[in-house]
Formats: sequence, structure tokens, C-alpha cells
Amino acid sequence: MTQNIPEHNNIWSATLGLLEMKIPKASFETWLKDTFVLSSKNNVLTIGVSSLFVSEWLNKKMKTQIESAIKEVSSIKLKVVFTVAKNKEVPKKSSADSTNTEKETTKKITSKFDKSTYRFDNFVVGESNKLAYSSALSVATEPGGRFNPLFIYSGVGLGKTHLLQSIADRMRKNSQNILYVTTEQFTNEFVTAIQKRKTDEFRSKYRNTDALILDDIQFLQGKEQTQEGLFHTFNDLHDSNKQIVLACDRHPQYVDFIHDRLLSRFQWGLVADIQSPEIETRAAIVLKKAEQANIPITEDVTSLLATLYTHSIRELEGNLNKLIAYSEFSGLNINLDLAKLALGIDAESYNLPIIDVSPEDLISIVSKYYKISVEKIQTKQSGRASEPQKVVMYLALETLKLRYQEVIPLCGNWTTKTIRASNNWVKNELISNTEFSKKISTIKSIISPKLSYKLN
Ligand code: ADP
Ligand code: MG
Repeated sequence: MTQNIPEHNNIWSATLGLLEMKIPKASFETWLKDTFVLSSKNNVLTIGVSSLFVSEWLNKKMKTQIESAIKEVSSIKLKVVFTVAKNKEVPKKSSADSTNTEKETTKKITSKFDKSTYRFDNFVVGESNKLAYSSALSVATEPGGRFNPLFIYSGVGLGKTHLLQSIADRMRKNSQNILYVTTEQFTNEFVTAIQKRKTDEFRSKYRNTDALILDDIQFLQGKEQTQEGLFHTFNDLHDSNKQIVLACDRHPQYVDFIHDRLLSRFQWGLVADIQSPEIETRAAIVLKKAEQANIPITEDVTSLLATLYTHSIRELEGNLNKLIAYSEFSGLNINLDLAKLALGIDAESYNLPIIDVSPEDLISIVSKYYKISVEKIQTKQSGRASEPQKVVMYLALETLKLRYQEVIPLCGNWTTKTIRASNNWVKNELISNTEFSKKISTIKSIISPKLSYKLN
């Protein structure tokens, strides 16, 4: 007897609703969210799922729970079978009733990377961040000394907040009073203090601290009054040798929205940058995070993650979390296959082991990207290095790790001095010019898979 599908659709969506409340969100999202009723016959409900993997997993791990949930919502006893199928229409579930489950699950996953555990000892130091790291460490041990203020800048997700919180953590352990605030918080408190005529309280809070650590000062943009307030706070703190630490998404040279007198003070101490991490640092970070989460991880998976996610450590970490969640909820150990599945990588298109990208490959990639001939990159075209040439120089030095002597013959025989200047130019553009930085990301993404994977 074939039964009424619309009715079973309702039963199934009620069952999903119940399950969504009962099981962790990540588990629900991975295994159940996109399932749907395919057919129903003789008290057997056939559920369409997206892959064989999901169907096997549901069969093995959740079938009983699902069948009893069906019984609970409908008082009907149905058996379920899972089949791989494409859905034409996935009924959307309201997420309002899942808020609690969501909170719990998010807590469960993020607790492995608890924000309060941003410390020096779990910050991986590499070429890209060692200046920022050592100056942060020095400031934490000797606040109010040579590096006051300490100004750290980098693109997003590269470890500024981690370092700032590590300073706060270390100083608190040394029984010092620390104020770590985001620029938004600072702004809100300042504005509220003015509105409620409580500027005295504000002043005493911000001046009776051993260190003021202010994150993301790019958000001072357009906030004249707050800048004024910060100016006075800065002066008071600095005069009494209290440490000030600032983080920003760009070099002060490119901060034109902060009043000059404040901006120049920001550069009194030390300005330190964090660059994009090299592949070794990315791999070390994966290992560290996996160790922190107490998850065994193999070398090939580490290398896959480190190769794929080059732009930000947040992205790298997010994908590792995803993989860990996938492994936890499936009960499967992390290996290369599971990683490819969890990260959505086409298993056919990658194949270990590592091969190098040659300087010739690099030139050919850049020439294709800029739609100019290889020859134009290889020879001097005018008195100045062209943008594609500068990009080749930068990538040859930073990504392929060539030496200056090796870069010279690649693109126009420019002097070491020009190459160094070009490299710095690119680095500055990367921070100040979003369009340019997108270009480099694209070029890098063409290079990176080749760096570690031979394309089939
Ligand atoms: P930013 O403030 O620069 O945007 P965060 O400090 O928030 O970046 O870093 C993003 C994530 O990457 C955080 O979870 C942080 O712990 C991690 N992270 C960044 N750099 C490192 C590092 N060198 N070692 C370990 N974890 C890092
Ligand atoms: Mg940050």
C-alpha cells in the first residue's frame, strides 16, 4: 500500500524538528539537515540522502533513534531506509526553536579552542610572526618599557588578537591590572560615559590600569570624539609609563582616518607586522591545534590543510574544526579520505606527493594572469619594474623562497635593490589595497595546489 507522501513529509519534518532539538547541531547539519522523503510504502519510509557515506552512517548510528523519534511525533510505527538521491526541494526548518541546541553544540566545539586560552605558549612562532611575537612577549614581561606603545598590524585572522590576549594573560598572571578592549567597546563606553555624564568614572577606569590593550583600532574611523577621548587616555597612561598595545588591520602609514597627533603617538614605540604564515608555520599550527583538541592527526592531513588554507589562520582553524566535528559525529578516525570528504575536495583532482613549482611555472602563471607575454616579464620594458614583474619578484622570494641572486635573471635583470623595493611595495599594497590583495590571492591559489600536490 502506497501512503500519502504529503503526510509523510509532515511527519518527516516534525521528526527532523525533534531530532534537531535532541542531537548536537553539527551532527544534525552533517547527517540530517538535507534529507527528505523519497517515497513511502508498507510502513517503510524511504529517505533520500546526499551520499553513500551519509546513508551508511545513518543506518549504522541513528536508525533506531530516528525510528523512535518518528513514533514520538506521529504515534505511527514506521521503518526507515536511506537511499542516495537528489532533492528537488528541501523543506526549510525554522531555526528559532533550535537556539538552545545550537548554543550547546557551538560551546562543545569551540570549547576545544576556548578564546580565553589565547596564550604565548599556544602561539606558533614562525618567520611570518616572530617580530610581533617577540615584541609582545617583551611588552608583557617589561610593560611600559622600550616598546610603548606596541602597535601590531596584519591582515585578518593572522594572530593579532591572539597576541594581544596573550599579553593580557601574562600580565594578569603577574598580578597586573589589564584592560583588554575592542575599539567598539571602548567607543561604546566612552559615548555612554558622555551621555550619562559619567566621564569621571570612565577616566578613572581607563587610567588606573597597568596596561590598555586596544584591539582593531581601524574601527576608530569616523569616530572623532572617541579619538579625542583616546588621545587624553593615551597621554595619561604613557606619561605614567603604563603600557599601551594596539592592533590594526594595516600599517599606520595607511591609516588616514586617525587624527595625526594620535597616529604619531601610536608610532612612538614599536610597529610590528604579522605576515601570512609560511607553509611550515601553517602545518605547525594545525598540529598544535589538533594536539590542544587531543585529536590524532596524520602528516598527510596536516599537509593537506596547510596547503589549502593559505590566507588566514582563522580559515585554517575553521576547516580543522569542521574536520574534527565530522570525525566526532561520524565516529570515524581522521584520515586523508575523511578530510577530503569533510572539506569538500574533489578526491580525484589531488594526488600526493609534493612537487615544487619552478620559477618558469611562476612566470607562466603570472603572465597568464596579467594576459601579457612571458617575454614581457622576462625583460626590462622601461626604467621601472612593471606590476607583473614586481609580483613575480615577490612570489619568487616569499613563496618559492628563492634568493635574490636567483630572482635577478627571472624578470628583467633588475638590481637587488629594485627587487627588494618591489617586494616591499607588494607587501604594502597587500595591506592597503584590497583589490591588489585579491589579485595576489588568486595567483597564489593557482600556485599553492601545485606547490604540494601534483594535479592529476
Ligand atoms: P586577527 O586578530 O589577526 O584577526 P586572531 O588572533 O583572531 O587573528 O587569530 C585567528 C585564529 O588563528 C585564532 O584562533 C588564533 O588562535 C589562531 N592563530 C593565529 N595565529 C596563530 C599562531 N601563530 N599560532 C596559533 N594559533 C594562531
Ligand atoms: Mg582580531
